Amino acid sequence: MSQTATKNFPKMVFEDVLPQKFNKNNKKGVSEDFVAENLTQLGWECFVPFDDTGVDIVAIKFVCPENHTKWNENMTDKTHCDFQNCDKKLIPITRYIQVKTRNIDKKNSKAILGYTLDSTDIRSDPKHTILIYSDLTNDFVIFPMHDYLEFFNNYPDIAKASFGNPSFRTENNKLNNLHIDDQNYSKADKKGNLVTSRLCWSYTNTRLTGKTILRKRQYAQYWSKAKSAKRKQIYLDDYLNESGIKKLSDPTHENDKAYVQKVSTMRYNLLNLYAPGDEIKTSFDDEEKQVEVEQKINDALKSKTELSEQDMVTLRDCNRKKLISHIQKLSNSLKLIKSINNYLLRFKGVPKL
Ligand SMILES: [Zn+2]
Repeated sequence: MSQTATKNFPKMVFEDVLPQKFNKNNKKGVSEDFVAENLTQLGWECFVPFDDTGVDIVAIKFVCPENHTKWNENMTDKTHCDFQNCDKKLIPITRYIQVKTRNIDKKNSKAILGYTLDSTDIRSDPKHTILIYSDLTNDFVIFPMHDYLEFFNNYPDIAKASFGNPSFRTENNKLNNLHIDDQNYSKADKKGNLVTSRLCWSYTNTRLTGKTILRKRQYAQYWSKAKSAKRKQIYLDDYLNESGIKKLSDPTHENDKAYVQKVSTMRYNLLNLYAPGDEIKTSFDDEEKQVEVEQKINDALKSKTELSEQDMVTLRDCNRKKLISHIQKLSNSLKLIKSINNYLLRFKGVPKL
């Protein structure tokens, strides 16, 4: 699909600055300014937190609680909604935005928008938003936390590859599945003429079917099969640019406790998802056995997520006692307890060992 329509959002807000000219040392700051300036022009008031808390921009806008305010309507001088006879008092909506930018990798003529994310970036507050900025095409992919989690919930294969993978917990997990659709992009020119591009989530389901005997020596065979598997593409039109900012500006669930609970549950389920890495997969004798083990682990994790608050507290207490008695048997126990306590300081309300 090729479109050459001029984009309404985001705009080239810094006329003489081309964001893709910046390198990795100053790119982040420039990108955040670019996002903040774009929001400011739509009537959002933007703040930058003093400390790095995973939030790059705090954005606040006054809108009609009935969602009558258009995404590009600046209400700065108004106190009440002026849509027909509504006249409702405007309410402030707040968004905590995390901006993700990367140099675009071009592998095999595909433009990959890689970004890193770790478990602390996945919040239960629906006001938290992940904004992925493609400076090559000047596109925003805007994922309010609810939509980000819902996306992965709707596509369990992708969720397994992203959240279930052990590397999500052990390393800085780089997601390389976000693509700019093949050749269908072009650089923004100096006059600010932007070409509409499409972004898609592209992935391969590498699960092998049938009773394939997979040993380590067959690792290469496994990979060649995975490589030749047809890649699936999911277009992100619903979160792109104008569609994304419409979602961001929607006040419908602003103070909705049930909505917070829904986000919190989706988050919890995704963070407690397990999928074996490829090396583990290939160490099983047959795939059925591997699927069975995977299921067992996921069932155990799921039963944990269904515990009542009181049962959860009891379980944690029991685990804490087990940990302490284990540490006390070690020769360097005092040093270890001191080190663990220093780490626990980060978690409010969690008592020291
Ligand atoms: Zn209204």
